[in-house]
Amino acid sequence: MVSYSPLFSSSPARWKQLVLSKRITIASILLLFSLLALSEVFLERGISTRILSSLSFDAKSLDQSPLSCSNPFDPSSFPHHTPRPTYTRKANATFLTLARNSDLAGVIHSMKQIEGRFNRDRHYPWVFLNDEPFTEEFTRCTSAVTSAKTHYGQIPREQWVQPDFIDEEKATKARKALSKIKGVFYADSVSYRNMCRFYSGFFYKQPLLQDFKYYWRVEPDINYRCEIEYDPFLYMEDNNKVYGFTISVPEQQETTPTLWDTSMEFFNQNPQYLHPNNAMRFASKDGGQTWTRCTYWTNFEIGDLDFFRGSEGYNRYFEHLEAAGGFYYERWGDAPMHGIAISLLLDRDRIHHFDDIAYEHTGWEQCPNPVSSAYERGRCDCDYDNSMDVKWKRYSCQADFEAALAVPRIHAA
Ligand code: GDP
Ligand code: MN
Repeated sequence: MVSYSPLFSSSPARWKQLVLSKRITIASILLLFSLLALSEVFLERGISTRILSSLSFDAKSLDQSPLSCSNPFDPSSFPHHTPRPTYTRKANATFLTLARNSDLAGVIHSMKQIEGRFNRDRHYPWVFLNDEPFTEEFTRCTSAVTSAKTHYGQIPREQWVQPDFIDEEKATKARKALSKIKGVFYADSVSYRNMCRFYSGFFYKQPLLQDFKYYWRVEPDINYRCEIEYDPFLYMEDNNKVYGFTISVPEQQETTPTLWDTSMEFFNQNPQYLHPNNAMRFASKDGGQTWTRCTYWTNFEIGDLDFFRGSEGYNRYFEHLEAAGGFYYERWGDAPMHGIAISLLLDRDRIHHFDDIAYEHTGWEQCPNPVSSAYERGRCDCDYDNSMDVKWKRYSCQADFEAALAVPRIHAA
């Protein structure tokens, strides 16, 4: 009698059952292996972020990944938060942060401020730019702070490094000379100069910004000390504003000895770019002879990218400054450059002072007056006595801005 091993059962039903269970086992093993492999990829190496960082990705899908950075976002640290009024629309806008990988902690701090005070129920995306590739840690940790989309881009080398036409010997001498003067920050830094030049003439050309109309610049280690109870992007859109600032301060003489004259050279040659209702008074009290040195403090700015991209005047003005070499032979900043351009090229009605936004960076801060409705509405926790209006008033250009707004308008005939 032949005894059949169950394994070779000739019963078709049994055979089917066996094959099926074998398939299931093999499939389960395969599934297990692929899951293990995938979790390796996703959890250990974070390759997903590395691949996606060159594109864009939705942070929500990565919420479960372990963070080597500090705890992502704690809404309880913003106890006063109330949801924004229900808007039926959003502006076409993004936050914009230029940063080094080493700025990660400060960037996370700033993101938490923005998310906590404003963005957690508006979900505007973030664009991060760097002259080097962002690390996997940077993309993973920053994307975990926001529920909005995050985009990461690398700046083309030619838009970052010192151009070849700059005489390096002359530039080195200038840096050394500036370093000898007390109280001039970044006097010897080439990378700081690259950054200033980039924010003057190249940020708005980045591919990641092409589809956006408005940007809101965010630096590492900034603080927002009131709730932002309305949508500043929509404010810009609804009021036809092109440029918004919080703090205005004078630029140091030592960093920009020839910037005003070089600028006036351009505007004298090209008077067609001067807007008839410009804010020249912010930059000059005597119609252009001398400079007030006033600048909008560009570490905060909300701007219309279409203006920067589309303004022939702005772009030709930048080219003129670039050719003069002052970004490297002196230490021209993006704040003075934007300050002059915005004040001269635009109708002053299109420049907005966000006086109700409490903003602090490196100790300088704008804080609404506690008796104002803005302070109350925003449930602010800033110290008015420490603000640009009080303690730092001597460094504030607010009076010059108000004087500019008060200049009678020219009405077209
Ligand atoms: P400060 O506010 O004038 O003291 O200048 P910061 O050091 O804060 O720099 C201004 C902005 O540019 C910040 O967002 C920095 O993270 C960024 N930044 C400055 N230097 C570099 C650099 O060399 N590379 C990159 N990627 N970002 C930089
Ligand atoms: Mn800064």
